[in-house]
Amino acid sequence: MSDITDLQGTFTLHNGIEMPYFGLGVYLSKDGQEVIDAVKWALEAGYRHIDTASIYRNEQGVGRGIKESGLNREEVFLVSKVWNADQGYEATLRAFDDSLKRLETDYLDLYLVHWPVAKKYKDTWKALEKLYHDGRIKAIGVSNFLQHHLEDLLQAAEIVPMVNQMEFHPYLVQQALIDFCNKNTIQYEAWSPLMQGHIFDMEEFKGLAKKYNKTIAQIALRWDLQKGVVTIPKSTKKERIIANADIFDFELAEEDIQLLSGMDKGKRFGPDPDNFDF
Ligand code: NAD
Repeated sequence: MSDITDLQGTFTLHNGIEMPYFGLGVYLSKDGQEVIDAVKWALEAGYRHIDTASIYRNEQGVGRGIKESGLNREEVFLVSKVWNADQGYEATLRAFDDSLKRLETDYLDLYLVHWPVAKKYKDTWKALEKLYHDGRIKAIGVSNFLQHHLEDLLQAAEIVPMVNQMEFHPYLVQQALIDFCNKNTIQYEAWSPLMQGHIFDMEEFKGLAKKYNKTIAQIALRWDLQKGVVTIPKSTKKERIIANADIFDFELAEEDIQLLSGMDKGKRFGPDPDNFDF
């Protein structure tokens, strides 16, 4: 386990870039005031990492929120993703420029291939490599890539992806994929770490929450970090944004990390990377 210190602590990517291991997700946060406020509250609370995507249609609000926070652009780790319809070499270069304009910035900290679109993701990756070489992105990565997608990409890639962002929570651990990523210096990252809200119904969590005197969200998010996994819970409510990040004053015992990992059922709440039609 890497050292987990505070909300601004980082994991080091294989090219030396420091990625804050805790960030704010903004999927389904509405563009305009809702996402502007969420980003501002998060940055005010000490978050330094925001995860958006062009398909979330809220990049404009995210950019505004960062500007209005008063922080310098360099203090925020900003992530976006190229959408499936924009994959391919030229289309990705254009999509990247469009994202930057909406985000009111001239670089990204991390840009991800959102889904492994068959016959396209290798050309998309070439575009990300070019943007990386041109100094317009600090790190490049993928999302929703299973081991066979990664193996296929690695055969053609000049640069090994720095990150793989995957659905990850106690019902979907995919430990073999995490091990594969670790072996290949690809940082694992969790999307839907709170099971899109379903985690709050899980009886198994209630005992642990009581034991540590923490909320279910805090237990789950702390588990992510102790597993060495970057996490980006979503909320638009100020008090939840603050509370979700209050996980640096306790540590889960090894047996409880195992307990949570043992809940794995291979259950997805989102789409299957081997069977999606968008
Ligand atoms: P999540 O697991 O973060 O859960 C969010 C839900 O939990 C929301 O409904 C929110 O209201 C609720 N919630 C948050 N904190 C709470 C609290 N303290 N108490 C009670 N309820 C709480 O789900 P997510 O948004 O799907 O995932 C997080 C982020 O991951 C997204 O916002 C997005 O940035 C990213 N993501 C990426 C992909 C991908 O394909 N790469 C897919 C989905 C999500």
